[in-house]
Amino acid sequence: MTFDVNAIRAQFPVLHQEIDGKPLVYLDNAATTQKPQAVIDALIEYYTQYNSNVHRGAHQLADKATQRYENARSTVANFINAQHREEVIWTSGTTEAINLVANGVGQLFNAGDEIIVTELEHHANLVTWQQACKRSGAILKICPIFDSGELDMNAFDALLNEKTRLVAVPHVSNALGTVNPIKDIAKKAKQNGAWVLIDGAQGIAHGDVDVQAIGCDFYVFSGHKLFAPTGVGVLWGRKSLLETWPVWQTGGEMISDVEYQTATWGELPNRLEAGTPNIAGVIGLGAAVEWLSNLDIPALQAHERDLLAYASERVKEIKGMKIVGTAPEKIGVMSFQLQGAHPADIGFILDKQGVAIRTGDNCAQPLMKRLGLPGTARASFSIYNTRADIDRLFDALKKAQTMLA
Ligand code: PMP
Repeated sequence: MTFDVNAIRAQFPVLHQEIDGKPLVYLDNAATTQKPQAVIDALIEYYTQYNSNVHRGAHQLADKATQRYENARSTVANFINAQHREEVIWTSGTTEAINLVANGVGQLFNAGDEIIVTELEHHANLVTWQQACKRSGAILKICPIFDSGELDMNAFDALLNEKTRLVAVPHVSNALGTVNPIKDIAKKAKQNGAWVLIDGAQGIAHGDVDVQAIGCDFYVFSGHKLFAPTGVGVLWGRKSLLETWPVWQTGGEMISDVEYQTATWGELPNRLEAGTPNIAGVIGLGAAVEWLSNLDIPALQAHERDLLAYASERVKEIKGMKIVGTAPEKIGVMSFQLQGAHPADIGFILDKQGVAIRTGDNCAQPLMKRLGLPGTARASFSIYNTRADIDRLFDALKKAQTMLA
């Protein structure tokens, strides 16, 4: 198999439009990815041909919806190499998946237990643990980074001890693109008897996630960063944990037997999926993963590495441009500053030239404070981006520089 970026681009309708008379260059993929026609078609097919609730119908439409919905679970389980398909729990996204874990294993925390996160966290993997600590009396420990955005693993080793109950780290930093040594982290944490959660929101779209090889207990991600619709995400967790921890949301579908005063819980995955789920979203996520699985993943990763390397190389052409986050292992994200320019102004000028990026704190306020920055401008790349997109980014940046100087 080879990787034909033009053939891939052709499958994303949204990319083929003009913004203020200029062809769109979409470089905000860490915020959300665009959707291929295969995913859009799966949604249209569901709503036009077999819209139904799942698991409870006595009719053919419901059977078909249930089948597609459960097939998506198997597709996702295979994609991340889960041992059991029922270890894949549907959520509304990464944020809800982390909250689900915080309200599951989080209920097992005791006062004085320690939870380790990092200075790199997105708010979803920080505030949620702050709250879990507040509820339980556990203590939140923050693993430092170097100024490059690389985790200080010696500091991590020093933080781990017999009180560590959970280590929750990002696979890839949304703000800086740092790829963290998650296998090493998981191994060390497990040797210490701690649970390990990997925030895979930014890791999942860049290739081959194998939850068994990583050695974590939980891996969470959002569909919308993986070419699927918004409003759907995944908590993958070890069966032995998911089937024993206290349930979080309660209601239809998650029960086994209900009396007026009491109830018992169903088996996995149902016990953690109360109420009518996002059926269309799940089917769309299944379609996205099938679509992605048919691509040449190593070639796709090489393409993404090339985009980041090419963009990083061109930075020296722009006086006063500085990359924020220079860890040796990075993927997909180029955060930067232009001397004398506020990130919001850069974003505005780029937008006028059809180039879509993100600006601001990247949902990582403590990290921005740690780096002494008000925020960054962030260009983030996906498999459908090209070197020509990066050329357009730099043309636009040169213009921004002249206007803002
Ligand atoms: N963690 C990271 C690293 C992220 O990049 C994001 C999304 N920006 C999230 C968590 C939260 O994802 P969502 O908003 O889809 O729940």
